[in-house]
Amino acid sequence: MAARHDAIVVGAGASGGLAAALLCEQGLSVLLLDAGTEYPFWRKPLSKTVAATIGAVSDPRLANILHPRLINAGTRVLRGAGRIRQPVQTECFAWVQKPDAFVDDKDHPYETPDGAPFTWIRSHGLGGRMMVPGHGRQYYRFGATDLGPKTDMPSPWPFGIEALEPWYQKVERHLGLAGGQDASDFIPDSLIARPVSPNASEEVVLETIGRKWPGAEKMLSRYAPPVDFVGMADATGRLTLRVRANAQRILAGPDGKASGVEWLDPMTGQRGSAQAPLVFLCASALESTRILLNSGNASGGLSDQLPALGRYLTDHVMLKAEGISPPLPMTDASEPGRCVYLPRFDLREGGNRESRGYGVQLYATVNPAGAWTTAVAFGEMAPSPENRVTLAKGKTGKWGTPLLHIDMKWREPEMTLAAIMGRALDELFEAIGAKVLVRPAGPANPGTSVHECGGARLGADAQTSVLDPDNQCWAMPGLYVTDGAALPSQGIQNPTLTIMALTARACAHAVR
Ligand SMILES: Cc1cc2nc3c(=O)[nH]c(=O)nc-3n(C[C@H](O)[C@H](O)[C@H](O)COP(=O)(O)OP(=O)(O)OC[C@H]3O[C@@H](n4cnc5c(N)ncnc54)[C@H](O)[C@@H]3O)c2cc1C
Repeated sequence: MAARHDAIVVGAGASGGLAAALLCEQGLSVLLLDAGTEYPFWRKPLSKTVAATIGAVSDPRLANILHPRLINAGTRVLRGAGRIRQPVQTECFAWVQKPDAFVDDKDHPYETPDGAPFTWIRSHGLGGRMMVPGHGRQYYRFGATDLGPKTDMPSPWPFGIEALEPWYQKVERHLGLAGGQDASDFIPDSLIARPVSPNASEEVVLETIGRKWPGAEKMLSRYAPPVDFVGMADATGRLTLRVRANAQRILAGPDGKASGVEWLDPMTGQRGSAQAPLVFLCASALESTRILLNSGNASGGLSDQLPALGRYLTDHVMLKAEGISPPLPMTDASEPGRCVYLPRFDLREGGNRESRGYGVQLYATVNPAGAWTTAVAFGEMAPSPENRVTLAKGKTGKWGTPLLHIDMKWREPEMTLAAIMGRALDELFEAIGAKVLVRPAGPANPGTSVHECGGARLGADAQTSVLDPDNQCWAMPGLYVTDGAALPSQGIQNPTLTIMALTARACAHAVR
């Protein structure tokens, strides 16, 4: 007989780890299932060798012995070797820091239509993508205008921003944010545990931007290192952790309510299951949607009951410029996550505040000879039912897992937005006296920003959404989905703080 728990949480990333911790703290016995699998060397000789060699090449002590060009050439060769098993994951800027923090694409395939690539960046293991070295650590709240409506987009959110306020606070207390508390019309204040003021080089950049565009909003980033939510859950004594458990479908009882989860062990292919009246699905936006598409109850498949399931996928339209600016005042080495943030940079000279726009995160590595400067613009995409995922017809992966077919592309509005963002980045570099060395003409492929959201959005009714306003599945009471799949739209902000706020809110609802 399958084991019984008060709740099962699927996925131990930012959302699942937090859900497990909060549910355990409320006295529930929780089974946490995670797909993370440690393979022995003989099962993954190439990946293990590439990962170990990249680790050695990125050892800072090597920089004192070897010429940087040699290290660069070595890294390029290793990236090439990495592509054999990880053709998608090598596209992520952070792959080079720890290749084995990312999934093996050959073991976890998916498909896309011809001419519409989607870069699905994934990490399996405790902490999920939040734990990946190189994670941006940026945490910003959504503001009232992000929940809409906007002039070019109706509001898909079933509540206003005030519904999230206490939950943002709760999550921020756990994160212990560092950063600036600059007043912004678009990014509401957060609880900052460690206020930070601009250092000498940031002062120069902020002042230069302020002189050129007095109306531009600018602030220091809000950032935090990863939090060990699984450890917090474990400390309550109420957690059962099961790794090597790749969830396949949500089980339902004869009453149509969620009753458990079925998984398979990716190493052996063996199936297992457990029972609970509460299930939190937190396997990341696309994976949770895949599991939902593979689930059903006595009334039929969830996709038959919920026309919005798999639809309204979004991602940030992302464009990056890199180059060299004149020498900036030397400062101590910057902390990971620290940068200058320019929310709604599209409004630097005024404009329609009720429309969709973009923000820019500006990083500079200070060096006496000049500063290597990277500016990343994230633009908001309008959710469309045409951007969707389905289960690939007749195709399965290893052990018979149904594959995901991801059909998402930038359309005319996103391409126009990207062109505008590109010109803005050129202007920004010119304003700070920097030379652009790399700046693609068009946006990165969908998925590359690693901010993919939607697929099981929350909303006001079962015709246009998959989840009710408390993140509970309309067609399967007891099932909560609280990762990025639930977001009806995603503003310009990095999404994880809002994903975690929705998770905390849903946990309180479930416990009630
Ligand atoms: C390099 C990088 C930088 C980033 N920087 C930022 C940033 O600065 N700010 C920001 O807001 N966001 C950032 N992101 C995105 C952020 O990491 C994600 O939004 C966040 O991790 C989403 O949390 P999650 O819990 O939904 O999913 P994940 O973190 O992806 O966790 C999913 C978990 O589910 C598990 N899992 C997957 N499939 C299954 C299955 N079938 N069964 C059981 N378990 C499963 C995985 O093992 C994993 O532990 C970044 C991402 C990357 C890769």
